[in-house]
Amino acid sequence: MSTNQALFERARRVIPGGVNSPVRAFRSVGGTPPFIARAQGPYFWDAEGVRYIDYIGSWGPMIVGHVHPEVLEAVQRVLVNGFSFGAPTEAEIEIAEEIAKLMPTMQQVRFVSSGTEATMSALRLARGFTNRSRIVKFEGCYHGHADSLLVKAGSGLLTFGNPTSAGVPADIAKHTTVLEYNNAAALEEAFGAFGDEIAAVIVEPVAGNMNLVRGNPEFLKTLRALCTKHGAVLIFDEVMCGFRVALGGAQALYGIEPDLTCLGKVIGGGMPAAAFGGRRDIMAHLAPEGGVYQAGTLSGNPIAVAAGLKTLELIQAPGFYERLSAQTARLTNGLAACARDARVPFSADAIGGMFGLYFNETVPASFADVSRSDIPRFNTFFHKMLDAGVYFAPSAYEAGFVSSAHDDAVIDATLAAARDAFAALA
Ligand code: PLP
Repeated sequence: MSTNQALFERARRVIPGGVNSPVRAFRSVGGTPPFIARAQGPYFWDAEGVRYIDYIGSWGPMIVGHVHPEVLEAVQRVLVNGFSFGAPTEAEIEIAEEIAKLMPTMQQVRFVSSGTEATMSALRLARGFTNRSRIVKFEGCYHGHADSLLVKAGSGLLTFGNPTSAGVPADIAKHTTVLEYNNAAALEEAFGAFGDEIAAVIVEPVAGNMNLVRGNPEFLKTLRALCTKHGAVLIFDEVMCGFRVALGGAQALYGIEPDLTCLGKVIGGGMPAAAFGGRRDIMAHLAPEGGVYQAGTLSGNPIAVAAGLKTLELIQAPGFYERLSAQTARLTNGLAACARDARVPFSADAIGGMFGLYFNETVPASFADVSRSDIPRFNTFFHKMLDAGVYFAPSAYEAGFVSSAHDDAVIDATLAAARDAFAALA
């Protein structure tokens, strides 16, 4: 049996940082990441045979738990028919119809293989549709790693955005304006200054990439109205919150209709699948009918579509979101009670099967608020929980995820471990 330590050292020789996505390396919390060998329901086991209660769920997709028997059966059934065709299938129509039924703003849907492709393609489409270049995003929202989106705010509203990653040309970053999340006044000011240059505004209506931060309903309403007034395309990035906060996504929860929506995670049931879609008149600009090019070798992959279709069926079971929300609230309320008893400054929030934990007394509304969390305390809490067999997101800037497999016993076991962890932090 290889230890996690030995695997990490071996991995670092052939994989940059030993991981295929940076957060997995535990850089912000320190230590050696467990190397996962298998998973089932709410648990996964590492290479040393240690079991963890999993609260990342592959960062969102595993909403019905790992290796759900019906998803497994659906995947096994199609596997024998072929892994990929590069030609259209009936199952692609079925999943597009299903998404359009659950999210009526998705009049047409194009499948891709990752959330990054979905947002990148939606932005190109919005630019092609409007014949404009400028895009607006919000500090703390993550939309994947396309060049135009790895950008932070310049020093003032009218200055150019700056790259947040080496390798992103300033000439590309300058087309992206970054504003404060939930700040309607900044939005009004930006649209007042250059509203007619904006091709698209992209937003996580419930943000899950700066821990969990709820979009303020007034802010989102203002955003919808300004985009309509100025002819900018409103893109809801629901890669994380879609089918996670409610059956119809955040757009159903808020009653706000975006022009385009990006989806990922849940719609692939753990397989590589994502999508973007929305208004038919905008989607008509995509190749082959329109002039905006977009394509993908594995797009609409039959195995991913089978896993996604079955997952979308399972989440429509009566009471699914009521139970998921209740379990998530049971977790966050329980954690808050443990912290209170230990007199540790702490707050928590939950929407559907998504949650945020903050080592600060107030629930945050912006990236700046999240930054006021006590990060060293979070890191100590994280490691105490990991040692007790509970795997939370290894960063104070990430949200957590509960699945329908997290039953009362699993939540209670988590809270028992948390009681000790908070007591040690007091
Ligand atoms: N958009 C949001 C809101 C996300 O949370 C993510 C990934 O976490 C992405 C886009 C990018 O998706 P992917 O990692 O599949 O490229």
